Amino acid sequence: MSARLLDGIAVARAIRDELRDRIGALLERGVRPGLGVLLVGDDPASALYVRSKTRACEELGIRHETRHLPATATTEEVLAQIDGYNRREEIHGILVQIPLPRQVDTPAVLARVDPAKDVDGFHPANVGLLVQKRPRFVACTPAGIMELLAREGITVAGRRAVVLGRSDIVGKPMALLLLHADATVTVCHSRTRDLPAVTREADILVAAIGRPGLVGVEHVKPGAVVVDVGQNRIEDPALAGQLLEPERLETFRRKGSAVVGDVRFPEVRAVAGALTPVPGGVGPLTIALLLKNTVAAADARS
Ligand code: NAP
Repeated sequence: MSARLLDGIAVARAIRDELRDRIGALLERGVRPGLGVLLVGDDPASALYVRSKTRACEELGIRHETRHLPATATTEEVLAQIDGYNRREEIHGILVQIPLPRQVDTPAVLARVDPAKDVDGFHPANVGLLVQKRPRFVACTPAGIMELLAREGITVAGRRAVVLGRSDIVGKPMALLLLHADATVTVCHSRTRDLPAVTREADILVAAIGRPGLVGVEHVKPGAVVVDVGQNRIEDPALAGQLLEPERLETFRRKGSAVVGDVRFPEVRAVAGALTPVPGGVGPLTIALLLKNTVAAADARS
């Protein structure tokens, strides 16, 4: 058996196409959705994520601007930028690229974003609304995964879901969304005992831990749906040999690195019923949901 691959690129494209009509309607009312991005420091991965997000905005005609602060920025300086975006009418959504440098008080920054412009869904008010099943803005990665499951015709209600990882940005909101979709949900983390025994219960397994290839066949019930959120850059040829299929291994040898998920793709592909690849699975959905939330924010304001 070989798992059906869940095509995040195609689903993201479908979401973007639907947004074109909504943006057209907004433009007719004289409103162009606008996203304000805040990037602090020089982390190359963060800069790359911001570029992918702003490029996606451009493709859809969403206005965007990025403020880039140095790695030495203080909490006050970051808050001042947020206040500026909060005040401006033409900025409908605000994205603070995390992680922020250590000296910056991240919870204070996320709480300063106007909740009505919080397109990442990290403000405590939006997290609270999600907990109460009255979602306004929901974190883009888990929201994108729910869209993927729905559009791929995967039933969630009544099934056993296991979420591996309990971060504020992926694991916790993911667990809440699955619970609200009537799955029976278990959340695992680094202190979970006998992880494979727990994850093997899952009809739907979401891996969001940031450990390349931690999830192998021993963690997966045959036929399960496996969603791999991990995005990990690897440079070790031995690890690459285990985690990459032959075509990608060639590219790895040429470039010296590759991005892999938390799932050992070749072996899990042989037992799972459906599986998201990395890249081309969850990543594009995260961006599509950011665009969707930005359009929703503009809609709600106009
Ligand atoms: P995070 O904040 O570091 O959280 C990782 C979670 O995994 C924690 O809850 C941790 O447990 C758990 N964990 C770590 N090692 C474990 C182990 N050996 N066994 C069981 N649980 C373990 O990470 P994150 O921000 O949620 O991101 C997770 C991954 O998803 C990363 O690779 C990240 O790059 C990727 N990501 C991808 C997208 C996308 O768009 N594709 C978006 C966001 C994140 P404790 O809580 O006990 O420490």
